[in-house]
Amino acid sequence: MECTDYLIIGAGVSGLAFADWLGEADYLIVEAEDEMGGYCRTVRRDGFIWDYSGHFFHFRHPEIEQYLVDRMVGQRVLRIERDSRIWYANRFVDYPFQKNIHQLPPAEYQQCVRDLHERPKEAGNNFKDMLYARYGRGIAEKFLIPYNTKLYATNLAELDAGAMGRFFPHASVEEILGNADLPDSGGYNATFTYPEGGAIQYIQALAQGVASEKIALSERVIGIDLESKIATTTLRQIHYGTIVSSAPLISLLSMCGVPFDPRVFNHNKVLVFNLGFDSKGLPDVHWVYYPQRELSFYRVGFYDNIFNSDRMSLYVEVSLARDETLSANDRGTMKVRVLADLQACGVLTHQSLVASHDVLLDPAYVHITARSNAAASAKKALLATHEVHSIGRYGSWTYCSIEDNIVEARALAERLDSMR
Ligand SMILES: Cc1cc2nc3c(=O)[nH]c(=O)nc-3n(C[C@H](O)[C@H](O)[C@H](O)COP(=O)(O)OP(=O)(O)OC[C@H]3O[C@@H](n4cnc5c(N)ncnc54)[C@H](O)[C@@H]3O)c2cc1C
Repeated sequence: MECTDYLIIGAGVSGLAFADWLGEADYLIVEAEDEMGGYCRTVRRDGFIWDYSGHFFHFRHPEIEQYLVDRMVGQRVLRIERDSRIWYANRFVDYPFQKNIHQLPPAEYQQCVRDLHERPKEAGNNFKDMLYARYGRGIAEKFLIPYNTKLYATNLAELDAGAMGRFFPHASVEEILGNADLPDSGGYNATFTYPEGGAIQYIQALAQGVASEKIALSERVIGIDLESKIATTTLRQIHYGTIVSSAPLISLLSMCGVPFDPRVFNHNKVLVFNLGFDSKGLPDVHWVYYPQRELSFYRVGFYDNIFNSDRMSLYVEVSLARDETLSANDRGTMKVRVLADLQACGVLTHQSLVASHDVLLDPAYVHITARSNAAASAKKALLATHEVHSIGRYGSWTYCSIEDNIVEARALAERLDSMR
């Protein structure tokens, strides 16, 4: 039987960042897919460059960004000032909505301001109540509630107030009212970076520190015996010292035979359509949010306005509830609906579709609640007593960026190394 000190499950950002830090140590990465990258993968088709879903980067640790960029020789990294908008009543309003209500028709603006002043005094301990308490009924019901309900594919009262953490663009009353005179729609992603070769460039940068013979592709871990420390894959059995897994926590628990309550670990799925057209569409804008229930998608991004290219290149995101299933046929039907909806809201006019790709991200956004946080921490702590460490966006059951994944993976590698 094969043996390894570290068995790493998954060659996405988290698994690769962990292995990269380990350097010369004895490890093996087992990856179910036939290529590295996890959700940070890029597809090239007919001259279009698409990610699994729009991936744009906002590094908070310049040294991490530099570490990656230094390994991307010959790769231009674009730095772009965000132009993101909301499709509202057949026109665009700048994002975030709460800072741009002055762009609404005057009566609606006044209603939002009145409701802002008369908002409930109770802070609210779920996401929906928090939106009413911080922004008042007008802002909440015109955009924040319909959009986020669509995005998460759930009743927002079931999410914690802090479910989106730092990714929610909060604004104070002063900022909301003052933005009419001195517009500032910035926020955490006022500018973003994007490599010309797509998000996969960051994966390739991390993979430079990983020996290719230490990555086994197209092999899935299907069972883990915590007592004997033997992992069973679709191809073999491996005796391990420590496991570092970036598989979704619920999959890891199943692999280890650890019981859990599936109702606590809820999540949505996102079906992404990447669509390439023969000619240009809307100029300038990078992505648009669609709160309308009748439209199939919640967000559409424009790669051509990032690359400054002359053929419209879109990613279109459709959110599905955890238990919703779509057959290949249903996906085809959904694509037809997406194209019709793009036409209905003026994105698609005279252009013809010349290339397309679709992918289902399952899970995509986990539903963060006090119960899911407590359960994830408890299960992770239990697994750690067996030297099984669960990391990553889905291994930690959280909402985060690829940079957060790298920080977490490095911190774990350092901690485990210091204990050897
Ligand atoms: C819609 C969407 C948009 C996003 N946009 C951004 C963005 O703009 N910027 C940003 O920084 N981040 C973004 N993210 C987050 C980013 O994609 C993730 O943080 C990151 O890709 C997670 O990496 P990971 O390695 O933790 O997990 P994953 O990418 O999920 O990798 C896990 C890997 O483990 C493998 N695996 C799972 N189970 C097994 C098994 N049993 N055996 C073997 N292998 C297994 C999988 O195949 C996969 O390759 C976005 C996420 C989504 C869903």
